[in-house]
Amino acid sequence: MSAQMRRYAKSVLFLGLAILVIGIGFQAGSAAQGVEGHEDVLTTDQPATCYEAGLRIYTCMRCGRTRTVHGPPAMGHNYVRTTDRAPSCEEPGLRVYTCTHCGHTRTYPGGAALGHNDRLTTDQAPTCEVPGSRIYTCTHCGRTRTVQGAPALGHDYVLTVQDPTCEEPGLRTYTCSRCGDTYTEPGTPRIPHAFGEWMIETPPDVDYAGLEVRICTLCGVREERLIPPVPWEPPPPPPPPPPPLFNEVDIIAGGVSVSLILLFLPLIIPIFLVISREKKAHQAYLARRDALEREDKKRDFH
Ligand SMILES: [Zn+2]
Ligand SMILES: [Zn+2]
Ligand SMILES: [Zn+2]
Ligand SMILES: [Zn+2]
Ligand SMILES: [Zn+2]
Repeated sequence: MSAQMRRYAKSVLFLGLAILVIGIGFQAGSAAQGVEGHEDVLTTDQPATCYEAGLRIYTCMRCGRTRTVHGPPAMGHNYVRTTDRAPSCEEPGLRVYTCTHCGHTRTYPGGAALGHNDRLTTDQAPTCEVPGSRIYTCTHCGRTRTVQGAPALGHDYVLTVQDPTCEEPGLRTYTCSRCGDTYTEPGTPRIPHAFGEWMIETPPDVDYAGLEVRICTLCGVREERLIPPVPWEPPPPPPPPPPPLFNEVDIIAGGVSVSLILLFLPLIIPIFLVISREKKAHQAYLARRDALEREDKKRDFH
């Protein structure tokens, strides 16, 4: 054993002795106090519960020592039936017991779930856009269940064609024979107006434009257009008066004045008579000469 080890053992031994001496001293002090007795006071008084017994703790006012005394034993639960729930369509019934001390509850089943009792309450036929449906209602709880019926029918469109006029284009209207739903499509384009001849309503003047109209024989619509004013022309100069030959009332016929004829009538008539007599004498002469010639020819022949 080395010197170092011996020194270590000596220290441990010394420490053990010191602890022993202090312990004996403390024990001696306690024994001296015990002569006078404890002065216990109830410091904790815990009543019994459903789970635990009661408990009283006394504490000495002098030395602080505590003493525990067990009180009445644990009470145990005191269950009373508090709630009954009848079974419903989907949930079983329940019986609930509640402890009157601590409120703890215990639950027991009270009858199996009844299940729904469905009856057909609504039978909706399908429409053009909405499929049919059947609604079942539970006679117990009123819960409804909807079952899809026949599919939607779709629209049954009927076409109506409106012919075009000269005022509006045609129209194609589709109407559902079941529900009345409609939609339209443009039809044949508008036809042109069937105008008659242009007719002058107001003739134009030098200062004012005239107006002429024509009317559609189909729809009666009126189309108008202006006739430009008549251009202004100076009035033609008056014809020069005939040169007066005899007097103011003389009449010129074929360049011969009537007045002159009347004036020279007494001279003209004898001249006409002379000419007429000369003409007759000349014709008589010609006739006599022809007769003589015929006589000569007859004689030569014989
Ligand atoms: Zn004490
Ligand atoms: Zn209880
Ligand atoms: Zn139900
Ligand atoms: Zn329809
Ligand atoms: Zn028209």
